[in-house]
Amino acid sequence: MRVRFAPSPTGALHIGGARTALYNWLMARGGGGRMLLRIEDTDRERSTPENVEQILDALRWLGIDWDDAEGTEGGIAFQTRHEPRHRAVIEQLLAEGKAYRSHAKADDVKAYKERLGADRGFRGAEEPTRAAADDATAAVRLVVPDGETVVRDLIRGDTTFRNVHLDDPVIARGDGSPLYNLAVAVDDLDAGITHVVRGEDHLSNTPKQLLVLQALGAEPPQYAHLPLLHGPDGKKLSKRHGAASVQELREAGYLADAVINYLALLGWGDEDDETILSRAQLQERFDVSRVSKNPARFDEQKLRWMNGRYLRAQGLDELTATIAEHLRRTGHGDAIAGRDDLLRTAVEISQEKIQTVQDLWPLAGFLFTGPVDDPKAREKWLGEAHREHLAAARAALAAVEPFTVEAVDATLRELVGARGAKAKDVFQPVRVALAGTAVSPGVFESAVALGREETLRRIDAALA
Ligand code: GLU
Repeated sequence: MRVRFAPSPTGALHIGGARTALYNWLMARGGGGRMLLRIEDTDRERSTPENVEQILDALRWLGIDWDDAEGTEGGIAFQTRHEPRHRAVIEQLLAEGKAYRSHAKADDVKAYKERLGADRGFRGAEEPTRAAADDATAAVRLVVPDGETVVRDLIRGDTTFRNVHLDDPVIARGDGSPLYNLAVAVDDLDAGITHVVRGEDHLSNTPKQLLVLQALGAEPPQYAHLPLLHGPDGKKLSKRHGAASVQELREAGYLADAVINYLALLGWGDEDDETILSRAQLQERFDVSRVSKNPARFDEQKLRWMNGRYLRAQGLDELTATIAEHLRRTGHGDAIAGRDDLLRTAVEISQEKIQTVQDLWPLAGFLFTGPVDDPKAREKWLGEAHREHLAAARAALAAVEPFTVEAVDATLRELVGARGAKAKDVFQPVRVALAGTAVSPGVFESAVALGREETLRRIDAALA
């Protein structure tokens, strides 16, 4: 089995593209096959080296690797480098009479159809628009033979096109440059691709690619066209559903393993999308023919949930390292520098409340930076009504020995009882004094993480 992922480097790697890459990878890695990477950079204006780098980066981050292959650069085939070969194939098809030069424009094709019936495919070989064989300014069209073109699709079954309905496709422009469908078919053939797994948006290209392969006398690969991704509202997945690219998922603090698990199960057979499966299990179980024909729903809330499971499955050391890396990358490097123990504690006391690594800082950043500024929380919990409770808590915290979570917990609960107060009327003022806001890890844990001195200092500042 030889599969390929063939992104066009016209932008970031989107979630749908990542799923396509992943399914190819699962097929190759699960079936002892090879995975090739082809950068389809024939749109020279929109294809940039930065976009290529971004896509490679996203794949590397996801842990989707590809295999080296002859004639590639580190396993990466750039489609534009194959242009001489594409041109040679076009010449060969012309020489064999399987293609012809033509000046037919869209209007000519339309006039032809009006004459012969709308569903008759354009045949330009006998038309006045046919150009002389040596007219290098004319486009080149492939001769569509009689018969049928059958797209065999592992997900959708067979779709049969009657060739009489298909236009002779253009395979080279008037300036000699090869067209996309010619390039893809030739590249897949040359690379020995056995399975083409790609987005459903390419379905309409497939008959044209099959016709090219047929003209070359080649066996076509198997196809699998993946249904589109929708958002939870049933509309095509886009930015308004949240993160749209792999880069954005990464920035948002997701773990690559969770993204892989979630994307793999999207619209795949009978697994539900909350099943936790390792990469090895996914590789073993993945079967592209079980992918549903219906659009899959990408629901970031479910990804968050799954990510939380993956976060907590990492041991504390690994999770701390993951979060440290994220914080350094997102501008908090100075705040955490030299404070490894505090970071570890922050992670330990926050882990039940976070679902992505990005959730840590809003929850526990106050441990490093001082109380955050939340005027509403201050007004609600640090006003006159709570001053005395807070002052009493300060005195209790100054005296408690040792300054541990258990002892602080017991002391503050005792205080609540002694004052005949509600727990939250004592705990929340302490929390807001320490954190500046009413959402934080446990209040006892936070106090102990800060240490007695800093805890008292923050309470004094709140009381001042
Ligand atoms: N380059 C195409 C894309 O990025 C994929 C073509 C293919 O897989 O055949 O959508």
